[in-house]
Amino acid sequence: MLLDSDRIFTNLYGRHDFHLDAARQRGAWNSTKDLMSFGPEWICDQIKASGLRGRGGAGFPTGLKWTFMPKKVGDRPHYLVVNADESEPGTCKDRDIMRHDPHLLIEGCLIASFAMRANKCYIYLRGEYIREREVLEEAIAEAYQAGLVGKNACGSGWDFDIYCHHGAGAYICGEETALLESLEGKKGQPRMKPPFPANAGLYGCPTTVNNVESIAVTPTILRRGAGWFTGFGRPNNAGTKIFCISGHVERPCNVEEAMSIPLRQLIEEHCGGVRGGWDNLKAVIPGGSSVPMIPKEICDDVLMDFDALREVKSGLGTAAVIVMDKSTDLVRAIARISYFYKHESCGQCTPCREGTGWTWRVMERMARGEAEMSEIDTLLDVASQIEGHTICEFGSAVAWPVQGLIRHFRQEIEDRITSYRQGRPHVQGATLAAE
Ligand code: SF4
Repeated sequence: MLLDSDRIFTNLYGRHDFHLDAARQRGAWNSTKDLMSFGPEWICDQIKASGLRGRGGAGFPTGLKWTFMPKKVGDRPHYLVVNADESEPGTCKDRDIMRHDPHLLIEGCLIASFAMRANKCYIYLRGEYIREREVLEEAIAEAYQAGLVGKNACGSGWDFDIYCHHGAGAYICGEETALLESLEGKKGQPRMKPPFPANAGLYGCPTTVNNVESIAVTPTILRRGAGWFTGFGRPNNAGTKIFCISGHVERPCNVEEAMSIPLRQLIEEHCGGVRGGWDNLKAVIPGGSSVPMIPKEICDDVLMDFDALREVKSGLGTAAVIVMDKSTDLVRAIARISYFYKHESCGQCTPCREGTGWTWRVMERMARGEAEMSEIDTLLDVASQIEGHTICEFGSAVAWPVQGLIRHFRQEIEDRITSYRQGRPHVQGATLAAE
């Protein structure tokens, strides 16, 4: 288990005060000016050396992403945009950072903006996060008053302004270019790439979009050293990570742990185990609703990191672990998730706009058993036609849950269709862990 002394987020549960004085006692804003005095290149090098990979889902190396920004500011200003749109079902980690440890995020914004030569930073919050915005705005006001941000931030000679922008609660605004469109006051729809935001982002200017957790961990990495951070997890999967565990466990929770912790250990040590014991486990969605589920046999010894979960054809995603015990009707669960994606499609691409609705309707019939056996393969075929044929990754998010279900629980769908044909329709009584 991760030692308390190795935790970056020491107020994740809100047991202490979030205000500036208390945050300083916990280590926030400690020697920020000194860290900045080493210069932008040093900061980027340290973050690269730490092996930090983006905590928002894609897992792209954070330090490398920062170096895509132009080295000199030309006639266009640079921007850092923090993605606090956290809308992936099962995920609620950024929320706890913002409401309980906002100063770590604000300090991270200053340091990351300085490293990318940005004088302005926008934090784009999910529409439903009203209390979180209130806390964040209060913390930002404290930081301005204390001279930590604003003109000559922390006495570093760097001018830095930070703003909160409240979204309207659309899932797709978590996609970085849709987020930028929304921030510009337009409809939140993803842009074609290229150009990438580092070249033409917010208002057509060089921009980097980073997740809340990715930014909030950077001051501590710089203070404690890249080597300290790489000491956790496996190579290429370094550091600590906040896991959000929900569903059929005794005690659902958010917890910061070392990357590469075995899934079983994570659930048993921090959540009191699966409801009814480990053998009552049926499947786990390990990284938020968009990643494919994995059955118990894989859960027995899989590690929670980017590479291990990719090897079993799933993903770490946002590290939102949705646990489903044997009472779960998996077909209905995926039908419900399909409805979510149908509802959230922005409608620009035909495969996504039409495919999400079609998938949901077929999944609803399958959940009742009212389908043909051949439709299982048709469903797989359509899912693969959506995946990778759209403007943004949302198309994959639609396809993966269905693919995961058919890959591991095809028999369950077939049995249901057979029962229905024999006049024994499926009785809905099972629960959906994600709800
Ligand atoms: Fe919109 Fe879906 Fe196309 Fe993404 S994949 S741009 S959400 S229609």
